[in-house]
Amino acid sequence: MDTPLLSLSGVKRYFGSGDTEVRALDDVSLTIRTGEFVAIVGQSGSGKSTMMNILGCLDRPTEGTYKIRGQDVALLDADALATLRRQTFGFIFQRYNLLASVTASANVEIPAIYAGLNQAERREKARTLLSRLGLADRLDHRPNQLSGGQQQRVAVARALVNDAEVILADEPTGALDSGSSDELLGLLEEMHATGRTIILITHDPKVAARARRVIELKDGRIISDTGSDEALHQEPEHSYRQERKGPSPLVQVIESVKMAFRSLRANLFRTALTLLGVVIGVAAVVAMLAIGQGSQREVMARFESMGSNLLFVRPGAPGTRMRGDAIATLTLDDAKALGEVDNVLAAVPSRSGSATLRVGNKDYSSSIEGTSQDWPLAQNRGMKYGTFFTADDVNRRVGVVVLGTTTAGNLFDNVQDAVGQYVFLGGAPFEVAGILEEKGASSWGQDQDDVALVPITTGMMRLFGQSYLSSITIAVDNTDEIAETETEATDLLLARHGTEDFQLRNTASILESVQETQNSFSILLGSVASISLLVGGIGVMNIMLVSVSERTREIGVRVATGARRSDIMTQFLIESLVVGGLGGIAGVLIGLGVCLLLGANGMPVAITATPAILAFSSALATGLVFGLLPARQAARLDPVAALASE
Ligand code: ADP
Ligand code: MG
Repeated sequence: MDTPLLSLSGVKRYFGSGDTEVRALDDVSLTIRTGEFVAIVGQSGSGKSTMMNILGCLDRPTEGTYKIRGQDVALLDADALATLRRQTFGFIFQRYNLLASVTASANVEIPAIYAGLNQAERREKARTLLSRLGLADRLDHRPNQLSGGQQQRVAVARALVNDAEVILADEPTGALDSGSSDELLGLLEEMHATGRTIILITHDPKVAARARRVIELKDGRIISDTGSDEALHQEPEHSYRQERKGPSPLVQVIESVKMAFRSLRANLFRTALTLLGVVIGVAAVVAMLAIGQGSQREVMARFESMGSNLLFVRPGAPGTRMRGDAIATLTLDDAKALGEVDNVLAAVPSRSGSATLRVGNKDYSSSIEGTSQDWPLAQNRGMKYGTFFTADDVNRRVGVVVLGTTTAGNLFDNVQDAVGQYVFLGGAPFEVAGILEEKGASSWGQDQDDVALVPITTGMMRLFGQSYLSSITIAVDNTDEIAETETEATDLLLARHGTEDFQLRNTASILESVQETQNSFSILLGSVASISLLVGGIGVMNIMLVSVSERTREIGVRVATGARRSDIMTQFLIESLVVGGLGGIAGVLIGLGVCLLLGANGMPVAITATPAILAFSSALATGLVFGLLPARQAARLDPVAALASE
């Protein structure tokens, strides 16, 4: 007793149920031996394709058993079936089912990829086969550059590339003219002559006449069978069987990446738009983080340069959030008393406001600060021209003003000549005593040269309209004793005011709260950027879903030629990873470009590797996460339905 190659027993395949039930195959039993040339004929709708799909393991019977070399296929899992398909069957379809985006040679190579052949082996095999089929000069043509007959020959080469033992051809001549049709039948006969088993579906009696055995189907049942060739009852050696492992993961990944680039290139505009979403997201992450970090660093640097020898007094009880100007608790006398405390270099009072300065017919609005002669000491700031005003000026309420370069530049044609000239402030003339050295923008983007300083006494009398201070800055001599000085100053103010209607803080505690603000600023920027990355990811998902539905047939072809579900899944995942990766690279580059541009324009940015790496990984992760759903959808497609799709 020898085992037949293929055997169906009591196979039924029903579609739908109840009233709409279709019995595509109804109790079919059949054996096919190695080396047979079988034609399956019957009217349209008689179940031929259904039988072919079951024979080729693309579909499973509803009832009954199908055995290949005695092995019941119902007992095999999806991967084992894929291996079986790959090693045993070569499919030829009526509509060729070539991938439009790749060359004839690449089409032939597809099944060989899943069989684990390396690129050189595949190339060579495809070249040999296509040359034998008379397509030596068409290797690099795409399907749309080939005639129908030529396309079908490419499909034949694809069916043969893995040395399939059984060729399954579903109306392969259906779309061909009679010349091409004869040619194809000749090819099938040649293949048969070399020992292959051929199963051919046709409704053309002339075609059927060339087969050794004809099976006729009607309404899902076999109504006639000319029987198998007696001569074949002796099973020949399995000369075409080759055990090959599946592709190595690396080969698979490389092929998938190549395929991904091909399919992305095939839809350049769409790819560009999808990429744009990711690019913007990544660029935003990179730029936002650099800006956040940059401003934080600058604030730190500024506080550090300001020195750790300062204490700040603000009016208002601790916890008050009102602006200092509005709270009337600190006085000039407080500042004077604080100046007398041990270890205090200077206690600098400050009252700020804004006013319009005028020189001739030039007007300029600037912030005005009333302060004492010790301001340069506390601010660690020198003069560009002239001098700062003196203690005497403060005591005598002299009308003098010290200008920042921005303010001076807006009032005078030549800043250097401004010293000694008069500026009208609140209707009174103030003599310009000096110009401050430049300091540039603060971390909040505020121009620190856009200032005008007047003696606090003069300011209170002529400009501010009240005699309370906005703040007092205390410069300490010996920083090792700053804590003692802080306590002493607090005690002094408490004694003077009788209640804690002020806040005294040191640089460290201010730094802390600034850092907090900065961190929440960074988090805010980061979330804005993440949201745009999320939007980009949704774009990727959208486009991958479109791609899956557009390439349904391709997926069918791949499954028919031996791809496992995991191969299909990997393929689509890698495609979305490639989109994410490309978008990530472009986004990082653009983000860095934006940073450089902002940096060149004076914005504090800190360009570090971390945000770039973070953003790039997020882009990859986006591709992965948002590619999962489409990839799963692709992997779950039913190959029969996929091949039937338009
Ligand atoms: P043939 O290839 O001989 O023309 P098929 O095998 O394609 O016929 O179809 C046999 C019968 O099964 C037809 O009546 C067809 O409508 C039905 N059929 C095939 N596939 C499906 C399906 N996926 N769902 C429902 N009915 C189907
Ligand atoms: Mg059919």
